[in-house]
Amino acid sequence: MNHLLKPSHCDFFSHLYIEESVKEEALTWKIMQKFSNSKIIFIKHYKDVFNRPNQDFGVQSKSKNLILARREAPFLYEGSYYSDGFEYEHFFYTPSILGCLYDCEYCYLSGMYNSANSVFFVNTGDFFDAVLTYLNKPTLIAISYDTDTLAIESLTSHTKEWIEFAQKHPNLHLEVRTKSANFKSIKNLTCNDNIVLAWTLSPQKIIDLYEHKTPSLEKRLSSIKEAIDAGWRVRVCIDPVIYNEDFNELYPPLIDKLFTTIDAEKLFQLTLGSFRMSSTHLKKIKKLRRSDIAFYPYEVKDNIVSYGKTIEQNILHVMTECATKYIDKERIRTWQLQ
Ligand code: SF4
Repeated sequence: MNHLLKPSHCDFFSHLYIEESVKEEALTWKIMQKFSNSKIIFIKHYKDVFNRPNQDFGVQSKSKNLILARREAPFLYEGSYYSDGFEYEHFFYTPSILGCLYDCEYCYLSGMYNSANSVFFVNTGDFFDAVLTYLNKPTLIAISYDTDTLAIESLTSHTKEWIEFAQKHPNLHLEVRTKSANFKSIKNLTCNDNIVLAWTLSPQKIIDLYEHKTPSLEKRLSSIKEAIDAGWRVRVCIDPVIYNEDFNELYPPLIDKLFTTIDAEKLFQLTLGSFRMSSTHLKKIKKLRRSDIAFYPYEVKDNIVSYGKTIEQNILHVMTECATKYIDKERIRTWQLQ
């Protein structure tokens, strides 16, 4: 599916599983109404389906199921080493949706979960209550960490819920990271400088090769432009850079294309980073598919696979040089191995 999920596309999911504990929730009912073409199955606990051993991630990726469930604590996790916490003392991510509609070959989710299905925890209020306990100081929450919330927005309205919650709490800062072209689903909401909409971009060739089911570069760029024009803070993340012999032909032109599409002055930030992953997740991904990303001869250090310092520094140098033709260095952030 190369477009966004709309209510009329809910037959994208072949089955809707509903945990007994949430069958009376208003949000469950709202979502069920959109599933007239899917089989609905009631289950005792989401883990009975999602964590079942010996599931075929590849087969499930082609026809996904959605599970509605109730999350028990913890509702927040400390931001991970692999991502930028932007110097916030309080930096968390929230596991309110597990799994993603898209199917990127380099995604750590396939190395982490047994299932390619998605779980949506409908008890959003419990996540909000957990956040409230930290708001004595500026707190950054990545709400699109184990998923792409905006990709599934037309079904869940989850990004909207978080944005409206953040409007009421000035110390709450959100990052909504996405590869979707679905800005229109939140475009009627009031802009808030504490919320950053962060789009991940890749050259179209990399999208075609490895980012299955995601919107094209053109569509993502036009969503970015719409968001910037509407006054939102937008971060563009060219991260992860997937390195191959075409790097110089693919990535600097991507930066040129970005800045010929949007007004560089209005971009909040550009982040750059090369592919890295825990070696434990990579080992699992290798068993799932014969992707050349998985089988690249990476360097391994402290359980992290990466291209190694020399290639990584070359990637960041080339891309930073190119980006500084358009924006000042202060707005460029890079993720580097320690
Ligand atoms: S969009 Fe992000 S979360 Fe979704 S499959 Fe791709 S890398 Fe994973």
